[in-house]
Amino acid sequence: MTARILVVDDIEANVRLLEAKLSAEYYEVISATDGVTALAMAAADKPDIILLDVMMPGMDGFQVCRRLKEDASTRHIPVVLITALDGRADRIAGLEAGADEFLTKPIDDVVLFARVRSLTRLKLVIDELREREASGRRMGVIGGVASRMGGSGGRVVIVDDNERQCARIMAELSLEQRPIVESSIEKAALAVRGPVDLVIVNTAARSFDGLRFAAMIRSDEATRNLPILAIFDPDDRPRAVKALELGINDLLARPIDPQELSARARTQIKRKRYTDLLRNNLDNSLELAVTDPLTGLHNRRYMFGQLDALSQRAAKGGAPVAALLLDIDHFKKINDSFGHDVGDEVLREFAVRLASNVRAIDLPCRYGGEEFVAIMPDTTVEAAHMIAERIRRYISGSPFRVAGGSELLTVTISIGVAGMHDENDTPEALLKRADAALYEAKAAGRNRVIASAA
Ligand code: GH3
Ligand code: MG
Ligand code: MG
Repeated sequence: MTARILVVDDIEANVRLLEAKLSAEYYEVISATDGVTALAMAAADKPDIILLDVMMPGMDGFQVCRRLKEDASTRHIPVVLITALDGRADRIAGLEAGADEFLTKPIDDVVLFARVRSLTRLKLVIDELREREASGRRMGVIGGVASRMGGSGGRVVIVDDNERQCARIMAELSLEQRPIVESSIEKAALAVRGPVDLVIVNTAARSFDGLRFAAMIRSDEATRNLPILAIFDPDDRPRAVKALELGINDLLARPIDPQELSARARTQIKRKRYTDLLRNNLDNSLELAVTDPLTGLHNRRYMFGQLDALSQRAAKGGAPVAALLLDIDHFKKINDSFGHDVGDEVLREFAVRLASNVRAIDLPCRYGGEEFVAIMPDTTVEAAHMIAERIRRYISGSPFRVAGGSELLTVTISIGVAGMHDENDTPEALLKRADAALYEAKAAGRNRVIASAA
């Protein structure tokens, strides 16, 4: 898994050093030696990760970071701030500026690559979501992502058996978040399945293995996307590296600095909300893109997509395909006499009856208004005609109960039937023939089925 990394440092030698290390691991490296150039490159060259030195003349790393996070086109790029060794104040200022990770000078290779790997993974997920969201928006089915999302008021589960440490974490986090403590793994495993925004795990706990717990969260479908912040002992570096390998999102060294804790928690919660939002938008958009909200049937767009695939198969000598176009007779009168809401009820009831009267492989959909289509794979026109006749009788034969059961309406439908012809046939032409047959059925007095002779 490779990535393009933008290295920003005012000292040329530092840039060269990082460049050499990263290139040796097959990362693509681009570089800048001042903030203004860095911002321009971030926007133009679309790096996957930015390694940003804090101490630079002119615009410093914090300012660059803040500008990157304020701009919608660069906000999603993870920023790693490079700070001095005991740069506690720098780290807090960096988190306030929206930095995602930190590295301290001199840079430790193992930690560097672990950070870069975990951020590359995260970036891939975010890119995928952004990409799909963008195409959803092009189709006009979803709204934009809220530009700013808060990082407070989050539900945090603290998994720790160290009472004094828990008390300190609770005291700090309660100011801004809604934390709870679980000191047993069993209870924690239940708690994280609820509505949770962040899990904080002590990897140096006495009574349980925090890393194992983190691995469990990562492997469970229901909790896979939960951010995890691991508390580690700075003397136990292998554990910290292992934690990052397991996909832990962030690390916090003991003894815990309260301000750093709250800033890191805020960053993780903000990021989770951002990816959740992208993910939800995506689910909604896929749903909206293919279904009709009134009846729950597939919509016209989806139907044409399926029909395209089926007709290509039919053209290659595959099985025949038939289509029914079904239209409710004098539907306008139902609206006029009983109101639009009753009309809607009739449409929903009709959709249920249609869907339950075709085979599982058939595709019933709402074509628009009071017109429906059923696509029937592996079906000849003759067979489709018989099915259509059965549906017609089922609709007219038992009245629709509407308006809370107070009205019984007799509803009839007319149906046009058509079949796929040959390799030159198209979905549009098929529907057109079905429509012509439907028109004949209406002209001949309605409540009947006519198959296209063409
Ligand atoms: P015909 O027998 O010739 O098909 O007559 P019709 O009245 O069914 O057909 P027409 O096309 O004249 O009218 C269809 C009506 O369906 C008009 C429109 O207001 C109504 N309609 C379309 N969509 C909806 C909907 O979602 N809900 C309701 N209640 N009515 C709808
Ligand atoms: Mg009609
Ligand atoms: Mg109509």
